[in-house]
Amino acid sequence: MRVLMIAGNWKMNTTISEAIELVGEMLPGLDEIDGVEKVICPPFISLAIVKELIKGSSIRLGAQNLYFEEKGAYTGEISPLMLADLCEFVIIGHSERRQYFNETGEIVNKKLRVALKVGLKPILCIGERLEENEAGRTEEVVTEQLGSSLAGIDYLGDLVIAYEPVWAIGTGKAATGKQSNETIGLIRSHIAKLYNESFAQEVRILYGGSVTADNIAEFVQQSEIDGALVGGASLKADQFLSIVKQTSEIAG
Ligand code: PEP
Repeated sequence: MRVLMIAGNWKMNTTISEAIELVGEMLPGLDEIDGVEKVICPPFISLAIVKELIKGSSIRLGAQNLYFEEKGAYTGEISPLMLADLCEFVIIGHSERRQYFNETGEIVNKKLRVALKVGLKPILCIGERLEENEAGRTEEVVTEQLGSSLAGIDYLGDLVIAYEPVWAIGTGKAATGKQSNETIGLIRSHIAKLYNESFAQEVRILYGGSVTADNIAEFVQQSEIDGALVGGASLKADQFLSIVKQTSEIAG
């Protein structure tokens, strides 16, 4: 049985005081919802204070990125060792990083390796662009991304995968539950080929892309979809609470 997960990616939003306020608004309601793993991923500079604020609660903490070296002369970067001290999860390979920061499959692979080495749980993002989708290349693109991201990695620990069609991120134009269920089924079959069937059945695969309180049910009702990575709607306490609450009700 895969435990459903809802992860909130705050992206480059919230000052430290806004992060404190947002956690204050979410915490009481979120803490009491069971049956769903609840993760929030604030910006790096707020991780330490948010860690204190959620201490003793059922809310888990994640970062949005990391560098692939453990330490050294890499001005401005954040190392996996720094994060392992602060949080449990780390988002790797988000399409915004691939698009704006030229993250290639090789870089994603290095980041995954180091995250697993220091005991962070990666949330690996993959997904096709609009033109790839329209050209019917979705399966080819996601399997290529899986292959390059996971190349040579034997042990994936508690890896979580987020299938995020790039055309659905931040656009208000979500995929349908049926479409994403099919693609996630393909991703799971590909994981079975790369690893084995039992791991493929265990690994959680989330949907991401314009998830809101109005459409979350359509996704988490699907047999292959194990929750959602939520961007914009995770910045609104009432929306995020409703997304988590509906997921918990569907999880039963
Ligand atoms: C994301 O950042 O991963 C995301 C899915 O964003 P949004 O929910 O805003 O589309």
